[in-house]
Amino acid sequence: MVTLQHRHTFGLSASAAELYELRDKAELTQLQQRYIGHLPAPFWLMGEGSNTVFSCDYAGLVVVNKLKGIDIEETDIAWRIKVASGENWHCLVSLLVQKGIPGLENLALIPGSVGAAPVQNIGAYGVEIAEFIRQVEVYDLQQDRVFWLAAADCQFGYRDSIFKRPEYAHWLILSVELQLPKQWQARLNYPDLQHLPASASATDIYHSVIAVRNNKLPNPTTLANAGSFFKNPEVPVTQFTELQQQFPDIRGYPLSNGMVKLAAGWLIEHAGLKQVQEGDIGVHQQQALVLVNYGNGTGPQLISLVEKIRLTIKQMYGVVLEPEVRVLGATGLLTW
Ligand code: NAP
Repeated sequence: MVTLQHRHTFGLSASAAELYELRDKAELTQLQQRYIGHLPAPFWLMGEGSNTVFSCDYAGLVVVNKLKGIDIEETDIAWRIKVASGENWHCLVSLLVQKGIPGLENLALIPGSVGAAPVQNIGAYGVEIAEFIRQVEVYDLQQDRVFWLAAADCQFGYRDSIFKRPEYAHWLILSVELQLPKQWQARLNYPDLQHLPASASATDIYHSVIAVRNNKLPNPTTLANAGSFFKNPEVPVTQFTELQQQFPDIRGYPLSNGMVKLAAGWLIEHAGLKQVQEGDIGVHQQQALVLVNYGNGTGPQLISLVEKIRLTIKQMYGVVLEPEVRVLGATGLLTW
């Protein structure tokens, strides 16, 4: 057994039957033949473990992506950046901002690897990575072949993509090709960035996002967490209007699909759930969307708190909260 406690930012004590660190694409066939080809047990592919929680020992193989490399090409209208999936996301954003290549600044300080970005379609402060992805390089572990998947085929949605579907769990993202247009406009519509002038540069936004996130969100190295634990739920306009009558301060954002996005953190906080704790697992005091492990939390405590929150939110607002974080049991993803 190999410990996983320091491999996922939620820091629960858990082990994997086997662990493989992938450092070079040349190892792929060997990995496939040595492990996957003969594997009756499950396997899980991961980067920095900032959106994966191991709730107990994992009975299979965990492959940790350590592939590195960044290649930047300039055209008349854009920069094309090919990034290996094991690169750290925030280091990439910082590098591009330093080089004067704007576009990703609103996504600064999101924890995790570049390979996790398309899986989750990471988003923050009005920007989603999907709009900058040109294609994704994939290794199919079942068929031992590499192919490129165009952005249009990635089924990007709100914190969602084809890479989350269980039937594609054997796809390993090798690299991501981004296209950042030279024509750039500051995105300042989120409340936390509205203090910036319209003339704010990408560097100004980058520093503001870092300051806001450092202020609001717990640093996983000092307080174990996995970022936003739940997705913001979407409800029909009629339901939102009814909720507004009962909860006049409720926050809702109309979406282009005709639904209204609710702020899950608001729902949790106003349901009084910030005070709820199960053992060493609790709700973060500055940002109720984040669950934290005060040190000795356990998988059952986490599951119990998640269920308590979901039940309370359903009873109080009639809304189902879906976890954004992927929680693993002994043989695979837990479904809620
Ligand atoms: P906030 O500003 O307190 O707003 C709460 C929620 O309302 C956000 O989650 C956001 O949805 C939504 N919202 C706010 N202004 C909006 C606007 N102008 N248009 C549409 N939706 C709006 O949010 P926060 O919790 O401090 O987070 C700020 C940003 O960082 C958010 O985009 C959030 O998603 C992101 N974030 C992501 C993670 C993660 O782990 N994935 C962790 C922390 C923060 P959206 O979430 O859809 O943007």
